[in-house]
Parts: sequence; structure tokens; C-alpha cells
Amino acid sequence: MTMLKEGRPTAPQAVTEADAAPATATGNRALMLEEALIFEIGSTDTTGVDFAQAPKVESRLGSLARTEAIGLPGLSEQETVRHYTRLSRQNYAIDLGLFPLGSCTMKHNPRLNEKVARMPGFADLHPLSPQSTVQGALAVIHELAEWLIKLTGMHSVAMSPKAGAHGELCGLLAIRAALEARGDARSVVLVPESAHGTNPATAAFCGYKVEDIPATPDGRVDLEALKARLGPDVAAVMITNPNTCGLFECDMKTISDAVHAAGAFVYCDGANFNAIVGRVRPGDLGVDAMHINLHKTFSTPHGGGGPGSGPVVLSQALAPFAPLPFVERRGDQFVLVEEETAEDHHAQTFGRMVAFHGQMGMFTRALAYILSHGADGLRQVAGDAVLNANYVLRSLDDVLDAPFGKSGPCMHEALFSDKGLAEGFTTLDIAKGLIDEGFHPMTMYFPLVVHGAMLVEPTETESKAALDQFIMALRSLAERAKAGEVALKGAPYYAPRRRLDETLAARKPVLTWTEPQVAQAAE
Ligand SMILES: *Cc1c(COP(=O)(O)O)cnc(C)c1O
Repeated sequence: MTMLKEGRPTAPQAVTEADAAPATATGNRALMLEEALIFEIGSTDTTGVDFAQAPKVESRLGSLARTEAIGLPGLSEQETVRHYTRLSRQNYAIDLGLFPLGSCTMKHNPRLNEKVARMPGFADLHPLSPQSTVQGALAVIHELAEWLIKLTGMHSVAMSPKAGAHGELCGLLAIRAALEARGDARSVVLVPESAHGTNPATAAFCGYKVEDIPATPDGRVDLEALKARLGPDVAAVMITNPNTCGLFECDMKTISDAVHAAGAFVYCDGANFNAIVGRVRPGDLGVDAMHINLHKTFSTPHGGGGPGSGPVVLSQALAPFAPLPFVERRGDQFVLVEEETAEDHHAQTFGRMVAFHGQMGMFTRALAYILSHGADGLRQVAGDAVLNANYVLRSLDDVLDAPFGKSGPCMHEALFSDKGLAEGFTTLDIAKGLIDEGFHPMTMYFPLVVHGAMLVEPTETESKAALDQFIMALRSLAERAKAGEVALKGAPYYAPRRRLDETLAARKPVLTWTEPQVAQAAE
């Protein structure tokens, strides 16, 4: 090796077997820093702030007064900043790379949305401000509502629900109120096998008995089985369209007609609206209620990145039962209608879902997204979402089994199964391998109708270059799993933690920290 006179090598040193990844004293690996729990690095007698001595006051807490130390760990400001920054660097994020989580629509959030949401005129409002002083904010909610109504071809929209699941609750409560109003006690909600878990959970939460509708071999609702089950006890059918197999429910109109003929309502799970926005209007398909995940279709951050918002569009039949409050235009004024009045069109409202008007920060972001795309841009969103998913599907269907790949193109997500992997190799091994390749794993083991499901939703915002790199990684993992490469079973190798016992973690979560007992040395 040649050196400068200061003793510095003039060329990179060749890496030999001998110096491959030795252990470090700290456990850190360069920029990959180990971090202990806050309880382990903090101390209960440290605080980051220095308050003046509190004056003595007579306690009025009586027996409620705490008698023991609170036991919270204390850190200095710098230690606190480092702790959370180190932890955040062990995480994956949409701003780091492609996030192929099926059903979740993890797409890029344009920074323009953020800029708009942070404008002081929106960001600094208080929900109890007099309505005359927040006309602009009410106009934003109203304009967004009009876009959602127009894009879905529905009669009206309830803006206040704060997530997709919350929107499902809103829709089913409206359906229940409509049935009660006509004195019709129905007790069953039908849900397809492939539905997102929130659908049966919502129906059960509303007191309905949930029954499965089987799927056809091509991954869609079995129309004949559904028709056969309809009857005077069925309150509603919950259908996801496009469904969670990434397929369009082609029989949707026939399904709606049959459901209506049986006196029931059609709830559509609209979480996948990004695949059809600007191309299909659910109102034309006979839908009575559908939630729209603003945080999916209209790109507001989610998945730990921010709160959600799940407005529910409603048919004319359900509109009278919509929740309060809502924004209404009266002349050139916008009014947040807070209370029902006997003679008004909302006299039959089922009540209220949230304290205020809904998730304002999400409304501003979603409207910024809609206006910056325009009608033609939104139409292209759907086209690009479907194009990207089909590119992934067709680039990998020679190495991974695509159970519904033969029956035509997919919508916004590509679904693969574990069929054809070597004996003992599973979807989990491929997911763990993706972590080593620097990607968040795809959704796995969902939908339940496919064995060892791998659901990939690339979304419309990924470039071809990013898709090609992801496809290359997944192809290599599929080949390794088919060849039975034992090393894959050990993945991940390069994550902060190796393979965890996730079943144990879910079944027996350790939610409190107790100081480890120091083992006594045997005498
Ligand atoms: C995301 C999703 C939901 C739930 O939405 P949240 O906003 O997470 O409550 C429901 N159904 C489907 C199909 C989804 O993808």
C-alpha cells in the first residue's frame, strides 16, 4: 500500500476476508446507531428543564395525591433530540423509497399540499372561532365537498369522519337510521371474503351479524351466491371496488340492483378510489354510501405520518340521515350547520361523529392536490396507478404465481401467491428479504382468499426507474425462494434487528417496562 508522507493511504484499501464486518465495541455500525430504550438511557432524577421552586400550596387532591415518585425517565434536551433522531433513522418512510404496501396507497405527498396546509390563515384557526371570521376555511370544506360529490356522482357528502374505518361507521349508521325510519329491523350485513378487516369490524360494532359472501375463482364477488343470500333480514352489503384483489367488480350495477330490490343498501368501500377517479362514478353503479380515504386517494400523509380523513358520499336515500355538523352555502355565506331543526332537510340526522367539522389539515391538503391536478390530472392519476400495477404484475408473473393474472389486467395493485416457492419457503421470507434490499415489504397474507398473498401497490407516483429497481429486487428474492436458498430464511441481516417472533409479539405484547433484575452472582 502506498502512503503519503503523513501516513495516509493514497488509494482505497482492498477489503479482504479478514476484515469483513468485525463486531464493534458499541454495537453501532457506522451510521447505523444502536439505541437503548429511553428508560435505560434516562434517569428519574434528571430533567431537561429547570423550574423555579414551586410555592407551597395546600393540596386539594386529598387521597388522590400521588405518594410515590412518578418514575418518568429524564433526559437533557440534547439527549432527547438524539434519542428520537436515532430511532427515526431506523424507520422506513415514503420519503426514503418505494413503499409497496398493498391496500394502503403509500404515494408521494406533494410538498405544495404541505405549504398550503401551513398557511397561517388555515393552520392557526381555532375550531370555536366565530363562523363570520372563518368563511375562507368553510369555503374550502364546501369546495372540497363539491369536488367529492362531482367525482363520485353522488348526492351529498359527510365530511366529518376521520378515517376510512370511521367513514364505514358513518355509512352504516346512516343505513341503520334509514332502516329504523321506515320501521324495518334488519340484522345482517353481507361482506365478501376478500374485504378489509375494518368492514366486518364496523358491521359488528354497529350490532349487525356479519356473513361472508364467497368469491369466484377469478377473485370477484360470487353474484349468484350473493343473490341467493339476499332477503328481508339483510340490511346492507359492503363491497370494495376495486376490490382488495386489485380487481374491478364488473357486476357492481347488477349487484346494486339486486340489493335494492331486496330492500337493502349498498355500502362501497372506496379506499381504492385512486384506481378509478375521473373514470368511474360510484353513483352510476348504484352505491348508497362510500367512504373516500383522503389520505390515500388525495395524498395526505398517513401511516404514522399524519391523521386521516374519511368523508362519506351518500345517495339521495341516505342523505337525510347524514351526521352533523356540515357546511352549507346560503347566498354568499358559508354556514356550519351544528343543530338539526325540525323543519329542515337534516331533521333525521343520526347524530354527530366528531366534536367539530372534521380534519381541516387534510381538507386543505386534499383540495390542494385536486386543484393542482385538475380534472384531467385526476383522470391520469387513475391511469398511472393502473399502469404501474400492471407493469409490476407482468414483470414478475413469470417468477411469482399471479392467481388472477390470467383473467386480464389488474387495477391498482398486483397480487401474487406463494405457490411455487421451494418447500419450507414462505411469503414471510420474501418480505424479510425485501427489508435487506432496502424496501418496505409489500402487504402479506392479505387478502385472505389467496394463500400466502403478496399484495403490491406501487401507486401512481413511482417512476419507471424506481419500479424497475423494485422489480429487480423482488425477482431476485423470488428466484432465491424458489431455489430454496437457505440463507434467505435468515433475512433480514442488515436491519437494526434480525427476524423477530411477530406472533409472540402480537399475542403477548410487553407494553410496560420493568427494570431488569440484576442476576445475583452465585456464592
Ligand atoms: C385503508 C383501508 C381501509 C381503512 O381505512 P383507514 O383510513 O385506515 O381507517 C378500509 N378498507 C380498505 C380497502 C382500505 O384499503
